[in-house]
Amino acid sequence: MPKPRALRHKQPPAAVAAKARKRPTVPLLRFLGATQTVTGSRFLIDTPGARVLVDCGLFQGLKALRERNWATFPVDPASIDAVVLTHAHLDHSGYVPALTRNGFSGRLYATEGTVALSRIVLPDSGHIQEEDAAYANRKGFSKHVPALPLYTEEDALRAVQRFAPVPYDTRQEVATGMHVTFRPAGHILGSASVAIELDVGSKRTLIFSGDLGRPHHPILRPPAPLAAADVVLVESTYGDRQHEDVESLRRFEQAIVRTAERRGVVLIPSFAVDRTEVILFHLRDLTRAGRIPALPVYVDSPMALATLAIYRRALTEGSPEVRHELQDAGDPFDPGQLIEARRVEESIAINDQPGPAIIISASGMATGGRILHHLMRRLPEPRNTVLLVGFQAEGTRGRSLLEGARALKMLGRYIAVRAEVVDVPAFSVHADQRELISWLKTAPHPPEMTLIVHGETAASEALHEAIERQLGWTAAVPNYMEQVRLD
Ligand SMILES: [Zn+2]
Repeated sequence: MPKPRALRHKQPPAAVAAKARKRPTVPLLRFLGATQTVTGSRFLIDTPGARVLVDCGLFQGLKALRERNWATFPVDPASIDAVVLTHAHLDHSGYVPALTRNGFSGRLYATEGTVALSRIVLPDSGHIQEEDAAYANRKGFSKHVPALPLYTEEDALRAVQRFAPVPYDTRQEVATGMHVTFRPAGHILGSASVAIELDVGSKRTLIFSGDLGRPHHPILRPPAPLAAADVVLVESTYGDRQHEDVESLRRFEQAIVRTAERRGVVLIPSFAVDRTEVILFHLRDLTRAGRIPALPVYVDSPMALATLAIYRRALTEGSPEVRHELQDAGDPFDPGQLIEARRVEESIAINDQPGPAIIISASGMATGGRILHHLMRRLPEPRNTVLLVGFQAEGTRGRSLLEGARALKMLGRYIAVRAEVVDVPAFSVHADQRELISWLKTAPHPPEMTLIVHGETAASEALHEAIERQLGWTAAVPNYMEQVRLD
């Protein structure tokens, strides 16, 4: 099987290319993603003197969204002066290798934690895309012949060389007339809310919440308060919900006990970064308290394991992002029988593992990765359980499971769903509506405009209403490709 050739996006016609390079006469904020969806975070600050992209994420889920990953980027990547990343999750960072391959040659600014995690996540994303394309070509089920990766591991390795780490709470110039400050967002290691100060004629401050964590993340410290700003962009993944932590943890515990009693396997599709750590933390807690039986726990994801090493390092080095009380408490991520599967053979060997056992594998919404092979093997058996511990976007297999699908299409075939499916949304590392409002309230004064992004329509609209009703602030939910003036 020859390695699929890297795809270079079709060059746009000259007139379109000229328009893509044209600079505006007033500073603009353009919404190139994360509108009516939780994926594809991309916000462009376009001023007469500079162009800075805040987040550069992949679109995931619905086909109409994923197709945007393959479309010509709305502005010429070579015309972008800098990219600022809020955190390392792929829906915020996963388009960087494509942007770089297609001409972006500026710096990528992010916190040290984000740089460390991106060095794992982005090449892994390229590698998975190459593997998926090769698998589709081998099995002949792709509509595209040959199936191509959006970018390769090599593209990603080149892209990560452009990183420039910036410490938290430090003002850094990223382009002419633009300074950035990262503040802890408590969502994953390295995650930040980003303040951008514009000095182009008038002075304006924008704050991007990034993905906002919860006040009680078991490992990370809570998000820093919101600083003064003229314009605030706030995420709304759970803008229409209140998490029920106690109830959720009880559901998690009972599902494991039930499955163990019927000697089944608990399968947990998990985002490799952070969610795996949170799950392991709770498994250890519950096992120690005798609330669940001691079971073998497989972590089957090289990326999740590489990430785990970075979290462990942050703990031993006493990172200021990590909760103090954990720093001398031993390894909080080992529930007792932790088995780390890195190599493909180790992953395949898990297929022969009888229950009871727990398997944690990526990706979190079952859109790809090793979890697919485990789902194919375990879904047809009623004694097994799939625990959904994160947000499941529209159009993903995770969402189909959540909505009660009786069969799921994977790797070209339909697989019967007879396993139990349990939703545990409070394991989310996203703030719920009450927590988002509390965070906004920490602002020293109301911003002129609050823009609600990173949510499906119902969630964004619910947060919109809550902001207007509870805070009395002016707010709006922008549309895809909308632009607003910043002067
Ligand atoms: Zn995230």
